[in-house]
Amino acid sequence: PAADAPTADGPAAEGGGSVEKSQADGAPEAMGGSGLREPEYDVEVTLSDLQADPNNPLYSVKSFEELNLRPEIIKGLHALNFRRPSKIQERALPLLMRDPPTNMIAQSQSGTGKTAAFVLNMLSRCDMTMPVPQALVLAPSRELARQIVGVVQQMGQFVQGLNVVAAVPDPRQRNQQITGQIVVGTPGTVMDMIRRRQMNARSIKILVVDEADNMLDQQGLGDQCKRVKALLPSQIQLVLFSATFPENVTTYARQFAPRANELRLKHEDLTVEGIHQFYLDVNGEDHKYDDLVKFYGLMTISSSIIFRRDTAREIEERMTAEGHQVAHLSGGLEGSDRDRVIDRFRSGEAKVLITTNVLARGIDVQSVTMVINYDVPEKLNGDPDYETYLHRIGRTGRFGRVGVAITFVHDKSSWSKLMDITKYFNVAEQLVRLDTNDWDMVE
Ligand code: ADP
Repeated sequence: PAADAPTADGPAAEGGGSVEKSQADGAPEAMGGSGLREPEYDVEVTLSDLQADPNNPLYSVKSFEELNLRPEIIKGLHALNFRRPSKIQERALPLLMRDPPTNMIAQSQSGTGKTAAFVLNMLSRCDMTMPVPQALVLAPSRELARQIVGVVQQMGQFVQGLNVVAAVPDPRQRNQQITGQIVVGTPGTVMDMIRRRQMNARSIKILVVDEADNMLDQQGLGDQCKRVKALLPSQIQLVLFSATFPENVTTYARQFAPRANELRLKHEDLTVEGIHQFYLDVNGEDHKYDDLVKFYGLMTISSSIIFRRDTAREIEERMTAEGHQVAHLSGGLEGSDRDRVIDRFRSGEAKVLITTNVLARGIDVQSVTMVINYDVPEKLNGDPDYETYLHRIGRTGRFGRVGVAITFVHDKSSWSKLMDITKYFNVAEQLVRLDTNDWDMVE
């Protein structure tokens, strides 16, 4: 898979981040004219409001202290400005950390803190005096694996002896013995490392599969995950996390992680309130480039991601010609180049990231206030791809922040696919049309 292109890995990406120090980025400033402007406010204020509302996925009755985490781990959470657990953290952690360890299949909306939940369980269960792998995380892309490594490092910054390793293709790592207690990687590389005895899997006691529905569903990735699992001890804790678990994958997930505690959501409840959804009515496929450029000309946007089906470079060229700082990431790039591109975007040096579904899942960059679906996400057979839509728009509106998602619709077929998707998630009513014949209104 593209995720495992033979390449180098760079420094660990930034992970969590200080939440309430930053100002919440409201909707793009220039959207204010039509009443879309979100007031500027401090995230802290909003967060505590949201965390006080029992219907909000960020709500919790407990504190981190009540979740029986070790003091040095709590210290790490405080350093990250995590004040209270979110609903998924509050519910998943006691089940994950109970002895004897039990498997878990857990679902929660994008950006609600799933990563922190499984990271805290790993940090709690690993013996840091032993320099051998004890917990393994599989993720669908090198970018997500590197990001999770960053989260482990940040949350575990006060944990003595902790060593976490990214298992992504990296020529520099080729013959090095893996001594980290926590390993996060893409399935192909992990399998390779175990087979070549670069990584000793005998002491592994936890396997986490992040974005599990995607990992288990795809032919290639699913087989690799199964093979990795077969190389691990038989009595381990299996943990599957995702925002989406379509019915057809559920059976398979239950075989992969038998007798699991399950935290599930209905698909009608999966969207995040802070993500405002729009569609831009484009006058036919040919006008998409022009309208995209025009659109960006009108707006002042902090960071945004443009998702498209293929990796054609026209958008990048036109946007660059218009003076935008653009980064372009596709699965076809060499790993070290991919690292450079995502790091440029994370640091804010590039404000616009153009990418494909390789980055639809998991990527957490808090300054992203807008996601554009240049194409309506669809499956290989042309059916609407509900899950991909949800994951793509979930790159904004992270943990109580506000964001905007705009899907380009250029004909009847793309329009009806988008309608199907928004009906599926019960947000058709909230979807707002933007008309390219009326740019004043768009603005
Ligand atoms: P998910 O895996 O559910 O998509 P993440 O775990 O990436 O979500 O969390 C989204 C963002 O929210 C991250 O930037 C993370 O640092 C932050 N976050 C997670 N849990 C908390 C918390 N309890 N308090 C404050 N911020 C949090």
